[in-house]
Amino acid sequence: MTKLVTAGVILIGDELLSGRTQDTNLGMIARWLDPLGVTVGEARIVSDDADTIRETVKSFSQRFDYVFTTGGIGPTHDDITADCIAAAFGLGIDEREDALAILRPIYEGRDFNAARRRMARIPDGASLIANPVSGAPGFQTKNVFTLAGVPRIMKAMLADVEHRIEGGAKLFSRTVESQGIGEGDAAAPLAAIEAGHAGVSIGSYPYFKDGVHGANFVARSRDLAVLEKAEAALRVMVKQLGGVELK
Ligand code: AMP
Ligand code: MG
Repeated sequence: MTKLVTAGVILIGDELLSGRTQDTNLGMIARWLDPLGVTVGEARIVSDDADTIRETVKSFSQRFDYVFTTGGIGPTHDDITADCIAAAFGLGIDEREDALAILRPIYEGRDFNAARRRMARIPDGASLIANPVSGAPGFQTKNVFTLAGVPRIMKAMLADVEHRIEGGAKLFSRTVESQGIGEGDAAAPLAAIEAGHAGVSIGSYPYFKDGVHGANFVARSRDLAVLEKAEAALRVMVKQLGGVELK
């Protein structure tokens, strides 16, 4: 009944590893998947290196129900994601007429050159993912969704992915915010609460702000009834440790 559906996310781009660009795509994908009942099991940031991309796609495709890649599907020499996906699955790849048909009108009156035509390179058998922002499509190859790197375009593409996802049991979460609690004091009772509530996982997120310290506790489970019991236990724990419950 509580089917676990998982996703792996592969964020592609040298600029993410150098710190030049701060990744925002993972958070966007994970928050979008959450209500669909899909949990991200791992995300990996990889360089624009063909072997690394290919091997990561291969392994993620086997380990997770769904895989999302972002980045590397533009017109420049470092945009090699499509070729790597084809290689990962042993598929051929070429400019595809359905993709060319989308791109041609966009570049009408401009030079529809080899670089721009690169964006029509799609692995054999993959289905296109619409890009309502700038046209150049993403594509789905087996359980792998290949999306643009530009966050706004990536987000817009998700609209054409949603109907392809068969989600699982939703993961519920409950947050208890507290002040004046040290994580070291909470550690043992937290472990006991987690152990005593099957299927519940508890995260502890400490903060220090304006000279005030505390911790927020987030319990997550697919079973709402057990989750609510764990939440109640967390609130009791906060009181017992002399903390102030904020929410
Ligand atoms: P690309 O599709 O790899 O050519 O990336 C196009 C643009 O999107 C670049 O300016 C990147 O910095 C940006 N970008 C790529 N991946 C991400 C990411 N994970 N988070 C935020 N921006 C990104
Ligand atoms: Mg790139």
